[in-house]
Amino acid sequence: MKFAIFGDIHGNLEALQAVLRDAQEQGCANFVCLGDIVGYGANPVECLETVRSMDCPVVRGNHDEGAANESMLEDLNPLAQAALLWTRAQLTREQRRWLAELKLVRQVRDFTIVHATLDSPGSWAYVTNRFDAMASFSYQFTQLCFYGHTHSPRIFEKDDTVRGARGLEVTLVRGTKYFINVGSVGQPRDGDWRAAYAIYDVQKGHVEIRRLDYDIGTAQQKILDAGLPPLLSERLALGR
Ligand code: ZN
Repeated sequence: MKFAIFGDIHGNLEALQAVLRDAQEQGCANFVCLGDIVGYGANPVECLETVRSMDCPVVRGNHDEGAANESMLEDLNPLAQAALLWTRAQLTREQRRWLAELKLVRQVRDFTIVHATLDSPGSWAYVTNRFDAMASFSYQFTQLCFYGHTHSPRIFEKDDTVRGARGLEVTLVRGTKYFINVGSVGQPRDGDWRAAYAIYDVQKGHVEIRRLDYDIGTAQQKILDAGLPPLLSERLALGR
């Protein structure tokens, strides 16, 4: 049994399609979405409807919340604000309600999913180091938890101590907990422009982060054609 765990799609349909195609080729029959389906990219509607039609577990991200509500944009940088106002205008009232009703934390089979942090999932803090991870581990009651939000894939481990694991692949060890950032499908920020997602092989007790080429040129052109800030198009190629 293999799960494909993906998030931070940010309206990038080309990247989402590449991930779903690869996941199917890899034999994943189960899908889980970590939120931020919309915001930044030019295809929020198509990405939302693609994920919704999969009828898989989904948690809410801060951009989903921003697109669903009327307020709450003060916390975001000007680029994200501009993109969210545009995104809101694309979505129907019913699509926005679907985003608003997504849960913040869910348990799926034997693992947990959350967009940002487990210690305070609705405040949208970032887990970037082992101290941040430590706070989330205090609220992690399954061996494995997947999260997103930073757009940088990362594996944290906890046994006697909490540490960042080397590499982006791990075989689960009994007695150790794992807090795993699967990276971003549609807007990576770790300097690698390729789409990222994770595969969890339940039988093997193994998680790997995969990176995929996708049709970035089309995604970039769509952003320009939509009249969104050009920087949103440029940053896709930088992976920043
Ligand atoms: Zn995001």
